[in-house]
Amino acid sequence: MEKKQFQAESKRLLEMMINSIYTQKEIFLRELISNSSDAIDKLYYRALTDEAISFDQDRYAIHISANKEARTLTLTDTGIGMTKDELETNLGTIAKSGSLGFKKTNEMKDGHDIIGQFGVGFYAAFMVADQVSVVSKSVDADSAYRWQSDGSDGYTIEEATKDVPGTDITLHIKENTEDESFDEFLDEHRLKSIVKKYSDFIRYPIKMDVTTYKPKEDGEEGETEEVQEEQIINSMVPIWRKNKSELTKEDYEQFYQDKRYGFDKPLEHIHLSVDGAVRYNSILFIPESTPFDYYSKEYEKGLELYANGVLIMEKCADLLPDFFSFVKGMVDSEDLSLNISREMLQHDRQLKLIAKNIQSKIKSQLQSLLKNNREAYETFYKSFGRQLKFGVYNEFGAHKKVLEDLLLFHSSTEKGFVTLSEYVSRMKEDQSNIYYATGESIERIAKLPQTELVADKGYEILYFTEDVDEFAIKMLQSYQDKEFQSVSSADLKLDEDESEESKEELDANKDLFEEMKTILAGKVKDVRLSKRLKTHPVILAAEGEVTIEMEKVLQAMPDNQHVKAEKVLEINPNHDVFKALQSAKDTDQEKLKLYTNLLYSQALLIEGLPLEDPVEFTKDMCKVMV
Ligand code: ADP
Ligand code: MG
Repeated sequence: MEKKQFQAESKRLLEMMINSIYTQKEIFLRELISNSSDAIDKLYYRALTDEAISFDQDRYAIHISANKEARTLTLTDTGIGMTKDELETNLGTIAKSGSLGFKKTNEMKDGHDIIGQFGVGFYAAFMVADQVSVVSKSVDADSAYRWQSDGSDGYTIEEATKDVPGTDITLHIKENTEDESFDEFLDEHRLKSIVKKYSDFIRYPIKMDVTTYKPKEDGEEGETEEVQEEQIINSMVPIWRKNKSELTKEDYEQFYQDKRYGFDKPLEHIHLSVDGAVRYNSILFIPESTPFDYYSKEYEKGLELYANGVLIMEKCADLLPDFFSFVKGMVDSEDLSLNISREMLQHDRQLKLIAKNIQSKIKSQLQSLLKNNREAYETFYKSFGRQLKFGVYNEFGAHKKVLEDLLLFHSSTEKGFVTLSEYVSRMKEDQSNIYYATGESIERIAKLPQTELVADKGYEILYFTEDVDEFAIKMLQSYQDKEFQSVSSADLKLDEDESEESKEELDANKDLFEEMKTILAGKVKDVRLSKRLKTHPVILAAEGEVTIEMEKVLQAMPDNQHVKAEKVLEINPNHDVFKALQSAKDTDQEKLKLYTNLLYSQALLIEGLPLEDPVEFTKDMCKVMV
C-alpha cells in the first residue's frame, strides 16, 4: 500500500506539538471526545436541513473501551463520519480544520455550534499512541475507509468495512519507557476520571464498559464475580445550562463544593446566561472567607473556561481583573474555539468581551449586596476589602471609578462601616472636604489630638487602620468632587479667616518659633502655632504629598526609599507648656533647647514614630525632674 507523506509543515508542527504544546498528555482524550461530539453535532445539524437524514437522539453516543492485553483504546462515535477525501484532508493536513470549513459554509442556526477551530486536536493522540487507526464511514458515502498512521512519517488509507455511519478511532498506546508510563491510559478508573474532569458536560452520552462485582449466580454466600457493565460516565447537562428557576441555593453550594472552589460556603452566586454579542453561561461565586494563601504570591486567580461544554482551561486569569481575584467559578461559551494555548486566548476578542461583561456583573452584584444585605456585604468586605483598596491604588488608579462605591471605612460618628456616599450625604453645610485620620486602631485614632478641631466642628472623620488605606485614598483624590483631607496635614483647609488675635499671637512669637526651628534643624520644616489643638501641647503635621502614616508604611518596606514626610511642629498656644517656652526663651537658652527637644520627642511618640535617640530623650526627661 502506498504511504502518503504528511505535508512538510504538518510534520514539523506535529513534532512540535507532541513535544511542547500540550504539557498534560491526558488531554488527548478530551480532544478526541470533542471531535466525536462535533461529529454528532454536524449530523444533528444536517438532519435539521436534510430530510433524508434522521436524527434519533437515543442512538447518538460516544463509546470508549480499553483493552489492556492489546494495549488499545478505542473511541467510537455515531457522528457524521468522513469520506475518503475527508480523511485525507482532515487528518492528513495538520493545520486544516474541518470544523472551521464547516462553519464557514454553513450559517449556524439554533445556537448550535461546532467546537474547535484549530486543526491540531486530533494529533494529540500521538502523545500517547504509537499508532492510530481511524475507520470512518460518512453519511454521504457507501463505503468505509481506514486511515492509519504512526504519527511520524505519514499515513495510509484503504477501504474498510463498517455498517453504520460514524467513526472508530483506535489508539495503540505506547509502551512504558524509563521515565514515562502510559499504562494509565488503559486503566478504567483513570480514563473515567479524565472524562469526568474534561468532558463531563458533553451533550451526548459517553459510555464505557466498567468492571463491577456482582453476587455470583448460584455461588456461595458472599461470592462475587466480575462483570462488564456499560455505564454513562458523563453527566451531560451541566448546572450552568439549567434554568435558574430550577435551581436552589443548595444546588449552587453543592456545585461550589464539588468543584472545590473553596472550603467555605459561598456568600453569593451569580448565574449568567448571556445571549448577546457573545454568548456564554457562567456561574460565579463570591466566597465568604479569605483563602489562606489569598494575600500571597502563591494565590492564582482565574475562572474555569469551557468551550461548549469542554474544559479548556482550569484557571483562565484573563477572565478576572486583579481587584476581583477572589471570585470563583466558570464560564462556558459556544463562541470560543477549543483553543490550544494561553497566548492565543489572551488575544481572543470573544474572551475579552466576556471578561468585560463579567466584571460589570460582579460589580453590580456587589453593589446590590451592599444595598440590600449590608451584613453580608460587610462580611465580604472584611475578607476582601483590602483587595478592593489595592485595586483602587494599583495601575495608577486606572480602576478607581469602578471601585470607589464599594469601599467601606470606619468613622468617628458611626458604629459600623460607612460608605463614601453615606459620608458625603452627612457632610455639614460649611464642610468642603472629606476628613480622615490614620492610625493603628480605631481606639487609637479616636484619641489622636489631630482630630480634635475637625471633630469639634461636627465633621465626621474616616478612620484608616490599614496601611493600604491612605495610599488608595491618595489615588482617589476626591469623591463626588470632595477632596480627601488628612486631619494631620499642615493645612486643614477649614476655610477660616485668620482671626486678628491669632495674627497678633503669631507676630509676637515669631522669634520663639525661629529659635525652635533652629534647634530642630533637619528634623522639622517649620514650627508654628496650632489652630487645631485643644488639650494637647504639641503635634506633628505633614506638608506636601507624603503624610506621616505613609512615611511609616514606606519605612517598613524592604526596599525602603527613605522617603520622609515634611513635618511641621505645631504648638498649642493655650497650653501652659507654651508659657514655659516663652519664658525659657527670654531667660534660659539651654532650657529652651531642652523643652523644644522634649516636645518634639513627645510629638514623635504621639504619631507612633520611633524616637531618634531614646537615650538622649531619657536624659532630657531626668534633667526636667531634678
Ligand atoms: P478540529 O477539531 O479543531 O477541527 P482536529 O484535529 O481535532 O481539529 O480534527 C480535524 C478534523 O478531523 C475535524 O475538523 C473533523 O473534520 C475531522 N474529524 C476528527 N475526528 C472526527 C470524528 N470523530 N468524526 C468526524 N470527523 C472527525
Ligand atoms: Mg478537534
